[in-house]
Amino acid sequence: MHFNELKLNKSILKAISENNYDTPTLVQEKSIPLILNKRDLIVSAQTGTGKTAAFALPIIQLLFDRQDSSKKGKKIKALVISPTRELTLQIEANFKAYSKYSNLRTTAVYGGASIEPQKDILSKGVDILIATPGRLLDLHKQDYINLDYVETLVMDEADLMLDMGFIDDVRKIERLCPEQKQTLLFSATMPHKVIDLAKKVLHNPEKIEISPTSSTGKNINQILYYVPKSKKIELCLHLLRNTIKGSILIFRRTKFGVDKLEKTLLRNNYNVTSLHGDKSQNLRQDALNKFKNNEVNILIATDVAARGIDIDNLDAVINFDLPNIPETYVHRIGRTGRANKTGRAHSFCSADEKVYVQNIQKLIQLQLTVDNEHPYPLDPKAKPPIHKKKGSKYRKGRKSEASKKKKKRWY
Ligand code: AMP
Repeated sequence: MHFNELKLNKSILKAISENNYDTPTLVQEKSIPLILNKRDLIVSAQTGTGKTAAFALPIIQLLFDRQDSSKKGKKIKALVISPTRELTLQIEANFKAYSKYSNLRTTAVYGGASIEPQKDILSKGVDILIATPGRLLDLHKQDYINLDYVETLVMDEADLMLDMGFIDDVRKIERLCPEQKQTLLFSATMPHKVIDLAKKVLHNPEKIEISPTSSTGKNINQILYYVPKSKKIELCLHLLRNTIKGSILIFRRTKFGVDKLEKTLLRNNYNVTSLHGDKSQNLRQDALNKFKNNEVNILIATDVAARGIDIDNLDAVINFDLPNIPETYVHRIGRTGRANKTGRAHSFCSADEKVYVQNIQKLIQLQLTVDNEHPYPLDPKAKPPIHKKKGSKYRKGRKSEASKKKKKRWY
């Protein structure tokens, strides 16, 4: 499925593509059409599945054609309540990014921060408010928040909100909003208390369940770097210098690639060895022993060479090239983050590999965290190089008569 098929307008689609989103995630595919149809929803989905955009995008779409012209006249039409300050800020950032090409105003209010600046922004008028329950009620009591015009109420991370003892506040907020509204409840887990709440506040809800595949351990920090192919070596050196430490397994797709990277890392004084199918059994065993005995801390390998060998408990895996088979990604990164240790998986994606990312994310039902801060970013508009079929150098008619004559003169 493509975002175009979800009935989102051009301004939203433009913002989405600037965020490097190619296709909707499963929770987005399922939720967006229902939210646009004004249905109530109960969604079980964890952070990482793309659930924020699953409610933010249709909410922006629903409000898009009714953006009040004057800021003062703005009324809160969408309210999102979330348990923590960090989450609130994250949701706010998402809304702001997706509504970049609109006049919709989003703000966040949360406890543990000075209330005065929040009052100032509220009195200027906002369309979309993201809030933690306590601060929301406080500001409502002081008359800075009017919930009479709320059309869509989102309860995000409902299980956490209830665990943190917000049940009464949540119920109160729900009652302060108009009776006739759309309510969307998102929760990572569905314990009884969340289902009870859903029964009380949702009207004839649709249920959506998104479970991440268990094969990718939760304790692996998976980071994606969009980078031009020609800059992957530089990015690798940068990360090895600054971020990635310990025992590291680097995967490359070809034997040639393994050798090339090994030479570069040796030249840069790294303790590195490699494994690939062209090496003799002795050399391969030798490389493995060195890595296992910690004589070297970096091993570069092709998938075939690394298959079946007993190396795990790694601190990090680097997918220098992304695998074209998504299951291979799961096997590769499964070598880190074992035995309750937190592992790291760093994946480099060049323009021609974007399609692999989509397939991987579909399989693992998680969105990889994108690092946009590294020094070698890929232009989001970069297209994969097209390899034109090269004709024979001596093809008839390749040279003009004029150039042939010129050549003769040379002799
Ligand atoms: P969430 O589950 O909402 O916390 O989102 C997890 C991450 O996925 C965030 O970094 C989002 O920016 C990213 N994300 C959301 N939707 C998509 C998409 N369709 N394609 C790629 N990344 C996405």
